[in-house]
Amino acid sequence: MKRQFYTGTFSLEDGDEQERKIIYCSTGGEEHFDFFCCFFRPLSAYIGTYSFFSFQIAKFCYADSIPIIPFGTGTGLEAGISAIHGGICLDLSHMDAISDYHPEDFDVCVQPGVTREALNHHVKDDGLWFPVDPGANASICGMCATSASGTNAVRYGTVKENCLNLEVVLPDGRILNTGGKDKRPKKSSAGYNLTNLFVGSEGTLGIITKATMKLHAQPEAISAAVVSFPNIQGAVDTVVQALQCSIPMARMELLDPLSVKVQYTKKFFSDLK
Ligand SMILES: Cc1cc2nc3c(=O)[nH]c(=O)nc-3n(C[C@H](O)[C@H](O)[C@H](O)COP(=O)(O)OP(=O)(O)OC[C@H]3O[C@@H](n4cnc5c(N)ncnc54)[C@H](O)[C@@H]3O)c2cc1C
Repeated sequence: MKRQFYTGTFSLEDGDEQERKIIYCSTGGEEHFDFFCCFFRPLSAYIGTYSFFSFQIAKFCYADSIPIIPFGTGTGLEAGISAIHGGICLDLSHMDAISDYHPEDFDVCVQPGVTREALNHHVKDDGLWFPVDPGANASICGMCATSASGTNAVRYGTVKENCLNLEVVLPDGRILNTGGKDKRPKKSSAGYNLTNLFVGSEGTLGIITKATMKLHAQPEAISAAVVSFPNIQGAVDTVVQALQCSIPMARMELLDPLSVKVQYTKKFFSDLK
C-alpha cells in the first residue's frame, strides 16, 4: 500500500496571523485514511476500519510528540476529548464492526464505533443484552475508556466488572491485548490485571480498538415503581433493606426535592408547547 506524508503551513481563517504546521497523510488502496494534524488546535481524522491505521497514526505521532485524542461519541462529561495542547482527534466511529459474538458464552467483541444501543439491537434476538447504561448512547470502547457505570450498576456492575479483554494501540504504535490475543477469559486470577489498568484511562494510555464484553440474559419481566419517602434517610434505609433481602433490583434512581421540582418544571414548559 502506498503511503505519503505531506507537510506544509496554513492559516485557520483569513487574517489569522499564526501559521500552523500541517501534516497530511494519504494512503491508496481499498481501505484508506486521510488525517490532518494541526498544532495548537485539533483537526479531526478520519480513519478506515482497521486497527492498523490507529497503529500507523500512533507511531507517527509518537515520533513527533503530537498528542492523540481518541473520540468515541463525544458524550463524556469530563471534557476528555478537548485538545488543550492541540493534536490529532481520532474519530473511530467508522470502526463499527461486531467482530466476534458468542451468545452461548455470553460475550461479544466490538470495535470502537459500536454504540451501546447498536450492540443491544444486535444481541436482543438471542435474549441477551449489555446492561451497563450510563444514560447516553455512548460507544462501548468510550465507556471502557471512562469506566462508565449507570443506573443498572446495582445489579450488573459497571464496565469494570463487564470487560474481559481490550485490544489497545499503545502510544508508540505497539498493539497490546490486555487479556491475551483473541482471549475471552472469565478467570480473574491470571497475572497483572492489565484490562482494568486501561478501563478508566480516559484515552491517556492508548487507543482502545477492540473491547470484549460480557453479556447478560434479558429479564423475562421488569416492573417499575415510583415511591415517595418523607426524607432521604427513609429512601436509603429502604434500598439497603431491599438489597439485604436479595430482592433483584436492576436499577434505582434517587430524586431529591429539588430534582423533582426541576422535572415538573420541565414537563410544565414542554406541555405548554
Ligand atoms: C446524559 C448523560 C448521563 C450520564 N450518566 C452517567 C452515569 O450515570 N454514570 C457514568 O458512569 N457515566 C455517565 N455518563 C458519562 C458516560 O459514561 C460517558 O459519556 C461515556 O462513557 C463516554 O463515551 P463516548 O463514547 O461518548 O466517549 P467520548 O466522550 O468520545 O470520550 C470520552 C473519553 O474517552 C476517550 N476515548 C473515547 N473512545 C476511546 C477509545 N476507543 N480508546 C481510548 N480512549 C477513548 C476520549 O479520548 C475521552 O477522554 C453520562 C453521560 C451523559 C451524556
